[in-house]
Amino acid sequence: MLDIKQFDQLKKTSAKSFNDQKALIKKVMAGRQMKCDTCGTIIKLVVPEDKGSPGLYCDKGCTDISLDFI
Ligand SMILES: [Zn+2]
Repeated sequence: MLDIKQFDQLKKTSAKSFNDQKALIKKVMAGRQMKCDTCGTIIKLVVPEDKGSPGLYCDKGCTDISLDFI
């Protein structure tokens, strides 16, 4: 069970990372080469025309942002 404090922390964390993700998505879509914060490999953009689910992915899989909202 999460207590209220933990839940608040979780909400803050996910809101921050959501904003970070949006910023990252914008940059990658603008054609910038962005590196994964965790492993440092180049983040690839998968568009809906490609095979697979659209999103941003790094080689190691630590960056895994799906773009199913497009
Ligand atoms: Zn990575």
